[in-house]
Parts: sequence; structure tokens; C-alpha cells
Amino acid sequence: MEIQDAGHVDVLIVGAGVSGIGAAHHLRDQFPDRTLVILDAQDNRGGTWWTHRYPGVRSDSDLFTYGYRFKPWRGPSIAAGEEILAYLDEVIDEDALGQFIRCGHRVTAATWSTEDRQWTVEVTRGDTGQQLRYTTGFLWMCQGYYNHAEPYLPRWEGTDRFQGVMVHPQRWPEGLDLAGKRVVVIGSGATAATLIPAIAGQAEHVTMLQRSPSYYFAPPATHELAVTLAPLDLPDEWMHEIMRRQYILRSDWLTRTAREAPEELHTFLIESMRPLLPEGFDVDKHFTPRYRPWQQRIAVVPDGDLFAALREGKASIVTDTIETFTEHGIKVSSGAEIPADIVVTATGFNMSVLGDVAFTVDGEPVDFTERVTWRGIMISGVPNMAYVFGYLRHSWTLRVDLVSDLVGRLLATMRDKGATMVVPALRPQDTDMRLRPFCDPENFNPGYVMRTQHILFKQGDREPWTHLLEHEQERDILPKADLDDGTLAYR
Ligand SMILES: Cc1cc2nc3c(=O)[nH]c(=O)nc-3n(C[C@H](O)[C@H](O)[C@H](O)COP(=O)(O)OP(=O)(O)OC[C@H]3O[C@@H](n4cnc5c(N)ncnc54)[C@H](O)[C@@H]3O)c2cc1C
Repeated sequence: MEIQDAGHVDVLIVGAGVSGIGAAHHLRDQFPDRTLVILDAQDNRGGTWWTHRYPGVRSDSDLFTYGYRFKPWRGPSIAAGEEILAYLDEVIDEDALGQFIRCGHRVTAATWSTEDRQWTVEVTRGDTGQQLRYTTGFLWMCQGYYNHAEPYLPRWEGTDRFQGVMVHPQRWPEGLDLAGKRVVVIGSGATAATLIPAIAGQAEHVTMLQRSPSYYFAPPATHELAVTLAPLDLPDEWMHEIMRRQYILRSDWLTRTAREAPEELHTFLIESMRPLLPEGFDVDKHFTPRYRPWQQRIAVVPDGDLFAALREGKASIVTDTIETFTEHGIKVSSGAEIPADIVVTATGFNMSVLGDVAFTVDGEPVDFTERVTWRGIMISGVPNMAYVFGYLRHSWTLRVDLVSDLVGRLLATMRDKGATMVVPALRPQDTDMRLRPFCDPENFNPGYVMRTQHILFKQGDREPWTHLLEHEQERDILPKADLDDGTLAYR
């Protein structure tokens, strides 16, 4: 099929999720004259919140920090997926971003030419299969961290003989009827914790089947400070800012305590769950993780709704390993068989490296395993390309705003210097730097990261070659980062 020339834009954003929409807002705000296109492989905007439409899907983070700095959140702290999509739609409308968004456009390859000072970006349209070719001066990768088309599904014995329905939350079928059904949800992470209370009222019974327990935190869905402030009828902007600061403080505290006093936090989390569970519940077996708090995400259970489903007997937990699927359920190692009409595999993601785009720089394919991150925003030896990867322990979006500020400064610096190219390059004093994996397992080690470490880029042992810093550090570091410290070559 002939490749269609789709034209040239100053900036090409990959991904129309929280990151891509935020990036586009900041770009339009600071550089209204630059031409722009936002490409997304899916058939609609919203990224994660479009992919995940299972019952009860909601944020773990409060929306005051998950929302952007520039756009007040007006609802309760925790929001449903649909409400987040509606918020993103408001941003798209207010900034007239719709004209730049092209859904059903998967970017497959990006080729940089120093001679032409531009990227050539290969795109496949989902509806027609048509191949398109864009060129751009700057590539902004806002592709998120996982493969939206292929969720992670472990192999289990006997799935072929199981006569019920198997569903992955990433591909929830519209109108799935749960009435009178025995549902088993495999997994113990945030997805299982949100899905179970949402379906417990409809299904005959829901069993959460976990190999090992996770940490949970059960704050009120509306923060007590928001309740106190409500009668003051404050402007939305004030409420947004006050609640943001409050939630940032709380996340700072959780993060710091996890690092400095993990046993204290462990005890706090377990003991705050205990009174919410049924009398005599085996907390050690089902709710006491084998890792330190925050080595994996702490799942938020607003108002303790998961525990309410357990108390009311609508849901139960089995902590065991799957031996095999049977015709009518799942047999676990203890020998018990859990009957199931529907099995939901809340087993997580396949991480993807920069949207699985094949990168080439001046004829050389980029092997990311040999590259080092520059502040978690650019990659060594890859010119005119920035990417967004949000926080692990604070809201993802806090970093979208900070990274966008830095990219704005970078584009302004290029303009002021008359440069058409900027590329992170190790200084002579950095060349013998000790390289560390993408993520230190001591710090953060969920399955999706550990399964993918071997194909990810690295970090160094010093700034600016590090990433995955906490928001508490970065909110000071990034705004002051010196863009002329010799680690960025401008040409
Ligand atoms: C159910 C769920 C709940 C979550 N809750 C929270 C939370 O409460 N707080 C928090 O901080 N984080 C949460 N996260 C993490 C979440 O992924 C981020 O918060 C955020 O949504 C990421 O936004 P993004 O725009 O960077 O990426 P995504 O939302 O992943 O969107 C990326 C988009 O890029 C597109 N794309 C990727 N590759 C290509 C390509 N090659 N070509 C074209 N398009 C491409 C994808 O189709 C997708 O639409 C949650 C994740 C899930 C799955």
C-alpha cells in the first residue's frame, strides 16, 4: 500500500491520555504558534481511562493532584473513570485541542535525521490500515507505560477446559451480565480491589483469589478538610490548590515513612484495616504482604468498600496458588476447588518501552538497553525527543505538569540559542559512571516492572542521569534544572 504523506508539524505528541493532553495544553499555552498533532492508537482519547472501563473503575489518587495544576477539580476526591474522561474532555474543549487529536493512529517507527534536523514518523491507521508518514521537529512521547492492546495473562493449566467466561479488565465486554453468577477475581492489586465492591452487589458471590496479599489504605472518599471547607464556599481555584497541598503532604508523609520507618507504616496500614474486617478474619494470611509498604503500590480503598463487601459476606478471599482450571472453576494447591461461572484475570500489564515504537537515529537502530535516561525526560543519544513517565507514589499528573514546564524551557532555550537540535550526551566525567537498572527492586518491584527490566533503558549514579525520584525532591529540582550544564548538546 502506498504511504501517504501526512505533512510536517513542529511538535508531534504520541498518546492522548492524561500525559498527552497535559503536554498539549502546556505547549499551546507557551508556544501558541507551533504546529502540533497528537496521535493515539486507540479509537478514542483518554488513554488508561478509555482502555479500562470495567465496573467501578476509579482513580487511586485524589483528583486534586491527579487533576492538572491549571484546571480545578470540582468533585469528591476519588473519581470514577467516566468522571476523569469528562474532566479530560473539558480540557480538550477549553483549549480547543480536539482539532489536533487523531485517534486510531498507531506510531510504529520514528527515524531521526541530523542532516534534516527532523523525525520521520511512520503511522498505521486502525480503520483502513493506511500507512501515513509525518515529519516533525520534536517528538513528545506521552505513551504511558503499558501495552493497551495486550494485557498480561499468565499461563495456567486447564484454561481450555474451563466452561465459564474469562475476562481481563483491560478488555471488559460491554453488558457482561453478572446477575446470579459466581465470580472469581484473580489478583490482589488496585484493579481487584476496585472491581470487587463494584460487582459484589450484582453477582451471587465474588471470590478474590490472590497468590499473596497487598497493602490497602482506606481513607474517606471525601477528605475531612474538604468537608470542613465546604461551607466557606471558596472559589474552585482555591479549593483545588488547598486540597492539592493537603494531599501532597499526605503522600509525602506516606512515602517518607515507607522509606524511613517501614515497620511503623506496615503496622499502621495493617492495624487500620483490622477493625474494618469481619470478626476473627485471618489478617496475617490474607492481608499481610511479604514486602515493605510502597515496594509495590498501596491500593486505596475509599471508605473501605472492599472490606464492607467482605463483612456483608458478598465477597471472600482465598490466598493460595492456582493448580489448574477445571470445567467449573479453579483448583488451588490446598486441594480446594473454587466454583466459577466468570473468572476475571486482574493480573496486570505488559510494560512497553516508549510505545513499542522502533527508533532509529541517523541510520542506527536505538537499543534502549544501552541508553541512559536524562532526568526521566530524555534519553542519551536520542535528539529532540522527550517522554513522560509519572510518579510511582504520588499522582502521575503532578509530573506531567513539571515535565511540561521543563520541556517548555528546553524549547525556549533552543529558540534563544538558534539551535534546531538538542541531545543528551554523557560528559567526559560521566562516561565511567556506574549504570543501574531502570528500577531498583529494593525501591519498587511490582511484577510488570520486574518482567520488563531487561528491555528498559538504564539510569546512572548521579544527576541528571537519574529518574523515578520522588515528587518531594523533583518539585524543587526540575524547575531549577540547569539546561546548560554540559549534559545537553545544542546544535
Ligand atoms: C485502572 C488504573 C488506575 C490507575 N489509577 C491511577 C491513579 O489513581 N493515580 C496515578 O497516579 N496513576 C494511576 N494509574 C496509572 C495511569 O496509567 C496513569 O495515571 C496515567 O493514566 C498515564 O497516562 P498517560 O497519558 O501517560 O498514559 P496512558 O493513559 O497509558 O495513555 C497513553 C496513550 O498512548 C497511546 N499509545 C501508546 N503507544 C502508542 C503508539 N505507539 N502510537 C500511538 N499511540 C500510542 C495509547 O493508546 C494510550 O491511549 C492507573 C492505571 C490504571 C490502569
